[in-house]
Amino acid sequence: MRIAIIGASHGGHEAALELLTQNKDVEVTIYEASDFISFMSCGMQLYLMNKVEDDTTVRNFKAADLEKLGGKVLANSEVTAIDADQHQLTFTDHDGNKQVDDYDKLILSVGVSPVQLNLPGKQLNNIYLMRGHDWALALKKKLEDPTVKDVVVVGAGYIGIEAIEAFAKAGKHVTVLDLQDRVLASYLDADMTELITKELIANNVTVAVGEQLVEYRSDDGQNVSAVKTDQGSYPADLVIEGVGVKPNTAWLSDVVALDERGWIKTDKYLRTNQADIFAIGDAILPYNIPAKKPLPVALATTARREAQYVAQTIFSNNIRPFRGIVGSSALEIFGYSFATAGLNEATAKRANVAIESITYTDTRQPAFVPAEAGNGDVIIRLAFDPLTHVILGGAVMAKNHDITPHGNTLALAIMQRLTLEDLAEADFFFQPGFDRQWSSLNLAAQKALGYAP
Ligand code: FAD
Repeated sequence: MRIAIIGASHGGHEAALELLTQNKDVEVTIYEASDFISFMSCGMQLYLMNKVEDDTTVRNFKAADLEKLGGKVLANSEVTAIDADQHQLTFTDHDGNKQVDDYDKLILSVGVSPVQLNLPGKQLNNIYLMRGHDWALALKKKLEDPTVKDVVVVGAGYIGIEAIEAFAKAGKHVTVLDLQDRVLASYLDADMTELITKELIANNVTVAVGEQLVEYRSDDGQNVSAVKTDQGSYPADLVIEGVGVKPNTAWLSDVVALDERGWIKTDKYLRTNQADIFAIGDAILPYNIPAKKPLPVALATTARREAQYVAQTIFSNNIRPFRGIVGSSALEIFGYSFATAGLNEATAKRANVAIESITYTDTRQPAFVPAEAGNGDVIIRLAFDPLTHVILGGAVMAKNHDITPHGNTLALAIMQRLTLEDLAEADFFFQPGFDRQWSSLNLAAQKALGYAP
């Protein structure tokens, strides 16, 4: 069987790996538009902060890795057309020639591209994005350029936060702008983002939230020198936009059904409306387990789960629907680390799901353990169905201590549709070097249920 995969990132990589290692009679070809195979944007911050020095290592795989398994990887090969009836695709090869290949099954993992703001001054130099290999190299140059003093990050989501930390720690003055009234507004509830905002300000970051960017300005007519919002103006030698993404699907509009925003429509088996064409990754809306409906989630973890599912079911006569995802992520910023899973107040409201939430804060270890020995506050947020107590979301955060593994415990609880009662009574370990007599997760659920403090 000939299987074509379009896109050599997380989704394409995982699908190819699964197909090549689990099956004998399979020919797998990955078509990738860019020249660099599988740069891992998730690792970009590590590269920008010099924790990894060689950009060419920040990748999911090299072509040779899959070729060893019998796969074919075509870089600089953009697929431009698909004839679903004939089971054929057309691509431009690395010499610019058009070629046509046949396939039996096709997996689309074409991903998304960052949205560029359409504002006056958008053509000025030094307005950057943060995704992929080319932008990683360009950003690294600016980090090392002493003439870059003021950096404006537009968008205080995950990507914006990663950019802030990299540039602030490189000694630049960073301003973060967001239309929403707090940082990370789609990721964490307000009591956690308040702490992060304080920490940003303590690290000399200017936090300009609730402001709308209206214009990029220039002193010399070529390079950006300031950004203007509806409330003020901020100096900028460099602007980094992290304001959202759009699916790379315009060229697919006459091939597979897309929704009004360009996401590829799939059924519960991740099939498109065309026979033998599947779609995975950022370019689709995955079924969200806590929301019980498809929602936008752009995560490598999601792409890989979907890819594994499709690769396993392509050869199966007995297929089960894709079970869906929870949406789990983690981040560190100036010593705070946090992890989130499932819904929060903002995403639940957007998805029209009723939730109730609580915040639990206490020390990580028993009170007798001093801060110098590593004790400190943990903050846990739980979101649950007010009627059934099913846990629908959660977040954990701590400073100078990695509490993020608790986020994975919450992700599992959400995936299994456990209740507050289940979490309150779960038999977690106790050892005062790590935790309290009850785990902080037990205590958070107990607080939500009104048990004795
Ligand atoms: P993409 O990664 O978008 O890749 C799609 C590929 O398809 C591209 O290489 C593109 O060139 C190719 N392509 C598109 N159209 C064509 C065509 N017509 N022909 C040939 N090739 C084509 N997720 C996490 O889970 N954890 C993280 O820590 C994390 N950090 C991130 C940090 C940053 C800065 C960014 C930008 C993203 C991060 N993500 C993270 C998100 C993660 O990178 C994406 O969810 C993941 O890459 C999606 O994989 P994908 O296969 O769907 O598509």
